[in-house]
Amino acid sequence: PKENKTIVITGGAGFIGSNFIPFFLAKNPAINVLNIDKLTYAGSLDNLKEVQSNKRYAFIKGDICDFDLIKSVFEDFNITGVINFAAESHVDNSINSPHKFIKTNIEGTFNLLEVARHFWKGTNNRFHQISTDEVFGSLGDNGFFKEDSNYQPNSPYSASKASADFLVRSYHHTYGMNVVTSNCSNNYGPKQHDEKLIPTVIRTALGGKEIPIYGNGKNVRDWLYVIDHCKGIDTIYHRGKSGETYLLGGNNEIDNLSIAHKICNILDIKIPKENGSYNSQIKFVKDRLGHDYRYAVDATKASKNLNWTALEKFDIGLDKTIDWYLNKYHNI
Ligand code: NAD
Repeated sequence: PKENKTIVITGGAGFIGSNFIPFFLAKNPAINVLNIDKLTYAGSLDNLKEVQSNKRYAFIKGDICDFDLIKSVFEDFNITGVINFAAESHVDNSINSPHKFIKTNIEGTFNLLEVARHFWKGTNNRFHQISTDEVFGSLGDNGFFKEDSNYQPNSPYSASKASADFLVRSYHHTYGMNVVTSNCSNNYGPKQHDEKLIPTVIRTALGGKEIPIYGNGKNVRDWLYVIDHCKGIDTIYHRGKSGETYLLGGNNEIDNLSIAHKICNILDIKIPKENGSYNSQIKFVKDRLGHDYRYAVDATKASKNLNWTALEKFDIGLDKTIDWYLNKYHNI
């Protein structure tokens, strides 16, 4: 029914969105969810089986760049909030073919903001932009990104996300729109696309293939368990201060090679090979162009102001993630 409060979640068939939707529906019994997703190669409705029959959930296959579609959604439903997950999200793809990143990440965000601005005049409805710590560029061995760190994006992906963040910011300052932005570190957990690091290591290990590691494997990322991220997003959506940004991190810094070793060691126990260890399949490959050395975030603001902290210990989260992929890849 039109009078029900409905939140638009874009990109809900992707990794983080499809973990977020079941979480949000359970946590917010008075709010319906409308998922708008283009179902690119990265999105799959298989990720949303657990909510398919939920009466408070609906799905529309569509592009966030489609002005008429987004407008009709705002006409037909009582949209009281937007959380924008939809994006082209893989840095390597942005290096090989950046155009889609400009379209979806910048133009798509702009389109959503424009429709919301038009329909939300005089309301306090909220627009929440999901962004990345990659907008801040690369760190050396020390220090952390903070909310007031300079934006220094280095890849077409991070530059497109940075542009979107600036558009969101401008809609607050110019039009007074109620916006929040959260910038998080690398997520891991169930439902992540095969192309990303952790699924790639698991998949190639189990398939008896070379496990590709960029450069010397020393690039450091902070890893945030996706459910911790979902809790942070829900908190910021409801209680974050309008016009502000919040950094979310997992306090789990580790380099890529060490992750690969950890996964191989766990697989050696869970699915022992006839002889030797999965570690021997690790192979260094040509580094990613412009590969940022290190990202790490200081999440003190979210913890102090909103009482959010990441709870999952990396080894436990990784173990759960591996179990999920073992189930998915069981017939490799
Ligand atoms: P993903 O690639 O797994 O999913 C993206 C989803 O968006 C897919 O379902 C895809 O079909 C959909 N989509 C793409 N273009 C679209 C369009 N034009 N219109 C509608 N839907 C479209 O990405 P993810 O890892 O779930 O990331 C979600 C958000 O979080 C992104 O905005 C990303 O930049 C951000 N983020 C992700 C990470 C991470 O580690 N995964 C870290 C920081 C920030």
